[in-house]
Amino acid sequence: MPGSYEFPHRRFNPLTREWVLVSPHRTKRPWQGQIEKTDAKAKPAYDPNCYLCPGNERAGGAHNPAYESTFVFDNDFAALLPEAPPFPAQVSPLLVAEAERGVCRVVCFSPRHDLTLGEMTTGDIRRVVDAWVAQYRELGSMPFIRYVQIFENRGEMMGASNPHPHCQIWATEHLPNEPVKEQNAFAAATSCLLCDYAQLELRLGERALYENGSFVVVAPYWAVWPFETLVVSRRHLTGMDELSEAERDDLAETLRRLAGAYDRVFDVVFPYSMGFHQRPTDGDAHPEWHFHAHFYPPLLRSAEVRKHMVGFEMLGSPQRDLTPEEAAARLRELF
Ligand SMILES: [Zn+2]
Ligand SMILES: [Zn+2]
Ligand SMILES: [Zn+2]
Repeated sequence: MPGSYEFPHRRFNPLTREWVLVSPHRTKRPWQGQIEKTDAKAKPAYDPNCYLCPGNERAGGAHNPAYESTFVFDNDFAALLPEAPPFPAQVSPLLVAEAERGVCRVVCFSPRHDLTLGEMTTGDIRRVVDAWVAQYRELGSMPFIRYVQIFENRGEMMGASNPHPHCQIWATEHLPNEPVKEQNAFAAATSCLLCDYAQLELRLGERALYENGSFVVVAPYWAVWPFETLVVSRRHLTGMDELSEAERDDLAETLRRLAGAYDRVFDVVFPYSMGFHQRPTDGDAHPEWHFHAHFYPPLLRSAEVRKHMVGFEMLGSPQRDLTPEEAAARLRELF
């Protein structure tokens, strides 16, 4: 039904049970906008002022080791702490709060200051995957940790202050909002939403961007961000700790190719927030969960023009102009 895509409509996200407004008539061929190389200046492989580079001093005086692959440390500015006193009793049911404990870590992907996921080798990204799995297991096994959120914020536009390739892990005592929505959707479905969805998109082809033996990348039908993508494991895995050796390699290859495709959209290091969603670590088996990753890039028509979530989007629903089908067509040719 491509014809109906040309008029305003809204699409349903079965994972969050929220709607997105799509206004395809507002934009035509948006990627033909100006192409600007905003960060073309060469970055050094080592930056003496970078707090993530090997051997350098961090805030608080700690020194990074001369690491040669990945490097994990507790965030010096952690948003959560392992110890938290009980919150004072509430004075009203309208003023609800509770203590939240957690652990915040940083994972450096590489000793090289100048690389991005798209520029690293699949073998080097595989070591990052191994570090993520080890962290998911270690943090998830802490008795008070019920959810482990691994995420990468890339680019100044997304608030990332340091270009050194790294991600963060926030492990929390409670399930955060987005996983709660997905938990409810997975639990209510009669068959796995993402097993079904991956099969459907592979059959239709219109929004599928890339596939290998273990993973499928799609521009989801209900995407909010212009070049948003969803990475889904072919096998029903509840978490990254269930990845086989081959699946870890395939995840590394998928991430390298997807990040590389993003960087070729406007010939800049494409900003995004990405992260994995997987089973909570509360001790239950959670067979309903299907391991996946979201990429949320803000760029719209050029390296300079970003999407803002304002106005109707803050007060009503998210809205997009470029359709996921148009974004898929653009991204697919860049893989
Ligand atoms: Zn660095
Ligand atoms: Zn599944
Ligand atoms: Zn998700």
